[in-house]
Amino acid sequence: MPPLHPDTPVQYVKGVGPTRAEQLRQLGIETVEDLLLYFPRRFDLRRQAQPIETLRGDEPAVTVAGEVLSVSERPGGKRPFFECVLSDGTGWVQLKWFYGLYLRNQIRPGIHLAASGKIGVYREVLQLINPQFQMLWDPAGAKLDRDELLPVYPAGAKLSSGVIAQIIRRVLPEATRLVQSWFRDDYLDKRALMPRPEAVAAMHRPQDRDHWAQARRRLAYDECLLMQLGIALIRLRQISRPAHPLPCSPLIDQRIRKRLPFKLTGAQDRAVADIAADLARERPMNRLLQGDVGSGKTVVALYAALLAVANRKQAAIMAPTEVLASQHFRKITDYLAGSKVRTELLVGGQPAAHRRRLLDALAQGEIDILVGTHALLTEGVTFSDLALVVVDEQHKFGVRQRTQIRGKGFAPHYLVMTATPIPRTLALTVFGDLDCSIIDEMPPGRGTTTTRCAAIDEMDAILAEVQGRLDAGQQAYFIYPLVNPSPKLQLTAAQQAYTELSGGPLGRYGVGLVHGQMPAPQKEAVMADFRLGRTKVLVASVVVEVGVDVPAANVMVIMHAERFGLAQLHQLRGRIGRSAADALCILVAEPKNPLARQRIETLAETHDGFKIAEEDLRLRGPGEIFGTQQHGLPELKVADLIEDFELLRLARRDAFDIVADDPGMAAPHHQELRRQMLRAYGGKLDLLTGA
Ligand code: ADP
Ligand code: MG
Repeated sequence: MPPLHPDTPVQYVKGVGPTRAEQLRQLGIETVEDLLLYFPRRFDLRRQAQPIETLRGDEPAVTVAGEVLSVSERPGGKRPFFECVLSDGTGWVQLKWFYGLYLRNQIRPGIHLAASGKIGVYREVLQLINPQFQMLWDPAGAKLDRDELLPVYPAGAKLSSGVIAQIIRRVLPEATRLVQSWFRDDYLDKRALMPRPEAVAAMHRPQDRDHWAQARRRLAYDECLLMQLGIALIRLRQISRPAHPLPCSPLIDQRIRKRLPFKLTGAQDRAVADIAADLARERPMNRLLQGDVGSGKTVVALYAALLAVANRKQAAIMAPTEVLASQHFRKITDYLAGSKVRTELLVGGQPAAHRRRLLDALAQGEIDILVGTHALLTEGVTFSDLALVVVDEQHKFGVRQRTQIRGKGFAPHYLVMTATPIPRTLALTVFGDLDCSIIDEMPPGRGTTTTRCAAIDEMDAILAEVQGRLDAGQQAYFIYPLVNPSPKLQLTAAQQAYTELSGGPLGRYGVGLVHGQMPAPQKEAVMADFRLGRTKVLVASVVVEVGVDVPAANVMVIMHAERFGLAQLHQLRGRIGRSAADALCILVAEPKNPLARQRIETLAETHDGFKIAEEDLRLRGPGEIFGTQQHGLPELKVADLIEDFELLRLARRDAFDIVADDPGMAAPHHQELRRQMLRAYGGKLDLLTGA
């Protein structure tokens, strides 16, 4: 048999034939290297067997091993069971499995097995009830020198953990020698990291828990490092292209600020300073602007756009939906009323002639600021001199999409805005290619928002309270979750609520109903009624359209709040509290488990979007974010981004240093890293092909 390589197909591994190879392939294991990196999900502790004569009968966990002398069963009765007597030569115990009749085909007199569990005494006989057990084909194998960790691998449909363990155990000694060390010893020593070959071996067969933990730490580091190397390379590629510098001057700054109807908050000033510093450079800005709903991101974006215009360049501002694009456009034209700056809106459904005129004007450089949806940059819209792209609410986009959006031959400065606070973990990963500014202060003159939890049986009191606020001239939302995945049933839930509310004491204030299945014009009409105060109460079946801005609506009752995600609840709550009056948010919930309760309570306690986002991530785990999104980053198998945050930070620093030193990863001592990068990213991001 030829010597193994990391890339050797598993089929050529001892004990693996074509059938096994196919079964392994279904688990994503194609090569020896894949096999080595297929780690146990957990370990079971196999204890060293104790001589039966030494047992007292009150030990919480023992392992005994020996020969089965006899078996018996009681198939009927309330709790049928199967039992056997096991002897190790020093004494005997009874093993008893309730509902264990299926064992009669496996456990017969004369076989050897090891059994573990809690020992007890029943009618003066030593007994193990429902023990874990393992067949011992070789009775001598029962004599462990010490307690042993048994790896449990994620099994396949036709491939048990035991078989996988056997294959890996056999190949491990030879294959471990194939594992390259990625770094020099001093590099590892400085970071207290175990050598990679040892770590890979220990992931499968650790000496003890601590050994395993050290191994895991090393492999988690490696995963984080590969990911951060990719991010560092993306970033390098983005900022290594030239961009038009857009310098600011005291005069320009003054002229821009004169346009704004208010003084910027301290947080807005800081964000503007970050952005102005970026824009003055000859390489593209690459910045994320975070701030809760209502924190005033639009003017910051506008400031940046006007800086481009002052430098005789164009700016594009993009939103995820046409509704939001229109809203941005309205706000911006308000701010710019009476100025010479020409701002236009480009969305679908505009008359063809109008659209053509717009595109012409844009290509001629007659339009300064173009507002539209994300489709702007992908639909062959040509600017004469685009220098700044602002993208709003892009939290659903990953690294890969950003790379695509900008792979179009121009290198504009780039600003991403999001109202969904990004937990620090994600700021280093999915958004890891961006610098970050945070608006953590609300504009002055806002009332406070109080959030309260309530139970469904307090509904009468809640309605009375809402009524009081309606009398005082406020407006109220009643939000219903998607109660049922079937659109029809969901509709009836909201409909029913609407019928009840409009027939009840709130009816005389005017109640509107809006839900996802409504045709757009009807939805718009209902929203307009509410915005203009013709209806005072709005029942919304799913989510009030992001960006809906009705300052007089200062009350929100969220029904079945336990069914919403934390971040979503926070977003919903952001719809109120937009005027000087104090706002009230009532979360009506019947949390059925502690997790749901904790979620609701977190929201009632804090209005800090970042805290909420962190908590949300902690409660739900990053799996949801990393599992389902097309973020373009390699999958993490070992690292846990929340638990391993410090490790992630360390890996990030190291990765950025490595790329700064050796951008092409061409140095001889980076060759293994380079190979691993290609393995992790595949051709996905074209990182090392010199784009
Ligand atoms: P965001 O986009 O961050 O949700 P907006 O930019 O829409 O927030 O701003 C929310 C509201 O606050 C707008 O009505 C805006 O005019 C107002 N606003 C923004 N900045 C200030 C400020 N510094 N002082 C007073 N009002 C402000
Ligand atoms: Mg906004």
